[in-house]
Amino acid sequence: MAGNGRVMKLNRKSVISYNRSKVKVARLKQFMKEGEDKMLETKNYQFWFCTGSQDLYGDECLAHVAEHSQKIVEELNASGNLPYEVVWKPTLITNELIRKTFNEANMDENCAGVITWMHTFSPAKSWILGLQEYRKPLLHLHTQFNREIPYDMIDMDFMNENQAAHGDREYGHIFSRLGMERKVVMGYWADADVQEKIGSWMRTAVGVIESSHIRVMRIADNMRNVAVTEGDKVEAQIKFGWEVDAYPVNEIAAAVEEVSKGDIDVLVEEYYDKYEILLEGRDEKEFREHVAVQAGIEIGFERFLAEKNYQAIVTHFGDLGSLKQLPGLAIQRLMEKGYGFGGEGDWKTAAMVRLMKIMTAGMKDAKGTSFMEDYTYNLVPGKEGILQAHMLEVCPSIADGKISIKEQPLSMGDREDPARLVFTAKEGPAIATSLIDLGDRFRLIINEVDCKKAEKPMPKLPVATAFWTPKPNLQTGAEAWILAGGAHHTAFSYDLSAQQMGDWAASMGIEAVYIDKDTTIRQFKNELLWNSVAYRK
Ligand code: MN
Repeated sequence: MAGNGRVMKLNRKSVISYNRSKVKVARLKQFMKEGEDKMLETKNYQFWFCTGSQDLYGDECLAHVAEHSQKIVEELNASGNLPYEVVWKPTLITNELIRKTFNEANMDENCAGVITWMHTFSPAKSWILGLQEYRKPLLHLHTQFNREIPYDMIDMDFMNENQAAHGDREYGHIFSRLGMERKVVMGYWADADVQEKIGSWMRTAVGVIESSHIRVMRIADNMRNVAVTEGDKVEAQIKFGWEVDAYPVNEIAAAVEEVSKGDIDVLVEEYYDKYEILLEGRDEKEFREHVAVQAGIEIGFERFLAEKNYQAIVTHFGDLGSLKQLPGLAIQRLMEKGYGFGGEGDWKTAAMVRLMKIMTAGMKDAKGTSFMEDYTYNLVPGKEGILQAHMLEVCPSIADGKISIKEQPLSMGDREDPARLVFTAKEGPAIATSLIDLGDRFRLIINEVDCKKAEKPMPKLPVATAFWTPKPNLQTGAEAWILAGGAHHTAFSYDLSAQQMGDWAASMGIEAVYIDKDTTIRQFKNELLWNSVAYRK
């Protein structure tokens, strides 16, 4: 991401001297588009495929091992089920080679993780030093080259050559002995479900690697007296690698004021082309002026964030300095481009939104990832759910159908009526996550939810909304969420699974609790109690 940030900065310089000529307009549009692409561009990540064996079996056997693992790698890459490339590595048979390979994986900045598989038996003491020095995500693929036992021809040579059932147990033992986190996936390598599990883990691994590139800009402190959005920023950097820095709000406001009228006009045109305008009796000219304020904020904020290499931002409606409006439409569009966001100074959620956006980068048919907030319940039997929204800042990536611009007064704060994008969210399964600081540790709460259409339109509600029923049902889901200490703010996504986020938390060495179809309050309370002991420092 640091590299991408630098590229963005250079691109930006090329448009500073914007004027009204058509060429320049096209260039500004291209620059905005590039900003969009860059924010969710990950490195050309690769995953190394390392097969374990030893020199006990002779060269012919080792030649087969290498041939088989190469074929697996080729077919995994050809499957279309993996978001990143797998790179074959020579069979690991000695302590020295194992240690060297893992250290090379550490140093290779394109390597986001290692996939290991013991085709034969590989004595696990050989792996101790290499694994101890390894610092990236690891998947233990427990598979076998042949699908079926070859009943007619099987002999001891075949058994010795194809003994993952044996070798992978020896190998797995040493991780457990070392207390090391790793993902284990078992199944036949050519099966789509196994390949999809590998692909899903790859996104978790990229989240682990990218986490340490997340920098959150705070242009406002945490909202006064609010507890759940607070946290230990030093501990967050130790655990997750996040840099969370404060800037005076008027520095970014100055960047907004520097945006030329020409640039603003181009972007307002784009808004008016792209979105439906809901005047609702307001003066057309004044409406457009208010929209233009958000366009200036979008451009100014994006330039300021890119120049200083931040990928997430928090605002606070009560601390806007010389900004004329609470950033609404502007923040919504920045989120859509890939920036993390948290309201009222909530830097933990801002970082999580960014993390989840980068984890889903490049996903085909992605349905969206957003900052979200629990607002109001529907408690009608059979129709239970939580209406989700925020004051303004919901990411349009989750929108279903048309998106409109509205202007309304805020009931809080003291600024102009801000322009915002309004829409309703898609239907389908999703996850809502909340990262909280319990004082002695972080806990990630992961709730599976079913997003639905609200039963009726809400014409007087001037914000984007989602409506969901948490699993296993509203009562148990909300009770468990509250018992776990989950926030009213969430990082929400249709495109990640609870397992992916739980695996990310495990890699980060923090507690994760799942609220899903299997949750009961009695079991959940016990889990929280046991975790409080397990995670005691
Ligand atoms: Mn809020």
